[in-house]
Amino acid sequence: MRRSLWFVLLVALLALPLAAEEPSLLYVRAGRLLDVKTGRVSTDQVIVIRGERIERVGPAADIRIPADARVINLGRATALPGLIDVHGHLTGDHRFHGYRGLSISVPRSALYGALNARKTLEAGFTSLRNVGADGYADVALRDAINDGEMAGPRLQVSGPALGITGGHCDENLLPSEYRHRSLGVADGPWAVRAKVREVIKYGADLIKFCATGGVLSKGDDVGVQQYELEEMRAIVDEAHKLGRKVAAHAHGTAGIKAAIQAGVDSIEHASLIDDEGVRLARERGTFLAIDIYNDTFILSKGAEMGMLPESLEKERQIGQLQRDNFRRAHRGGARIAFGTDGGVYPHGDNALQFAYMVQYGMTPLEAIQAATLNAAELMGWQDRVGALEPGYFADLIAVEGDPLVDVTSLERVRFVMKGGKIYRDELGAR
Ligand SMILES: [Zn+2]
Repeated sequence: MRRSLWFVLLVALLALPLAAEEPSLLYVRAGRLLDVKTGRVSTDQVIVIRGERIERVGPAADIRIPADARVINLGRATALPGLIDVHGHLTGDHRFHGYRGLSISVPRSALYGALNARKTLEAGFTSLRNVGADGYADVALRDAINDGEMAGPRLQVSGPALGITGGHCDENLLPSEYRHRSLGVADGPWAVRAKVREVIKYGADLIKFCATGGVLSKGDDVGVQQYELEEMRAIVDEAHKLGRKVAAHAHGTAGIKAAIQAGVDSIEHASLIDDEGVRLARERGTFLAIDIYNDTFILSKGAEMGMLPESLEKERQIGQLQRDNFRRAHRGGARIAFGTDGGVYPHGDNALQFAYMVQYGMTPLEAIQAATLNAAELMGWQDRVGALEPGYFADLIAVEGDPLVDVTSLERVRFVMKGGKIYRDELGAR
């Protein structure tokens, strides 16, 4: 008996430091809180945060804040969930397009990737899907952010994108004597399965592949299908079997439909989607991530940033069509997730796309839902980000004014919190 008593005491003593490390409580007072599910704005709300997660949300009248509590006061600003971009390239940089990119090493790209991650977070994007990076720099970035070594959004990363030899996801700038090909190149159903296994081995959270040609690649036609349906099916089957979602880069009409039929989770760009493609996407629940801001950057600054003349020509061909087809897809009932292709344009400018989404047919609330609820669902993170509810990560932002009236207020995010930690505070909220 006595021995067991000592044992109980010892266990209790050992448990003491654990008890002392219980996550601290934090109270955020929000003068205006936007519920992105309903579009309702509630006034005088309190968000109770324990550690990195939300414990409770409710009216200030119902939640007693202890006198010695840590309180963040957002004043009259409008609080909403942290934004999510499902298509970015943090280790890509808008200054190094075309041949300039060849002089950038993978370690160098990881270093400015760290800078870009911080810029993106400070702009209010607390989660991001990184779809395509050289040399697994994105995996390193994700892990460094998760380990608290640097500031950045919560990341899902794809590693190198799969693509056919000479396709959009290959590197076609050098002649054959350099024997250069991108890490993600694989041709044929079994080779693509092996490639899926390989990128997962080295840390990919999702699989990205190139179904059609692209704008910023040399020597391919943006509208032409690249992978065969059989290869796409093999990629999707292997990825889903291994628990990974699949994002397909697809501009061309036929390639978009083949990718949807193959069962991908999202179509990236979707520039030349037709009514049948929209219907297929709607029926299959395939998300579309249509990047309708960056056309403005490519056509105004692309040449200065090293983009090839043929890339600018391709953009002139499809840029406006893509915007018109965004309207078509939205009207046709396809689900849209907010994806911008950051890295083509300067990181941190992600929110510039909201105004275009509204110009091309969405309400401000729908555009915000694309960047919260829909993006979270596409990432499979609908139980942890994209809403401010108990159990979710304390990822929230605040803007002055009403984003439902003026969606461009999201371009001027004044407060950013991720996991209960503040990364931007221009409201004097602390
Ligand atoms: Zn991209």
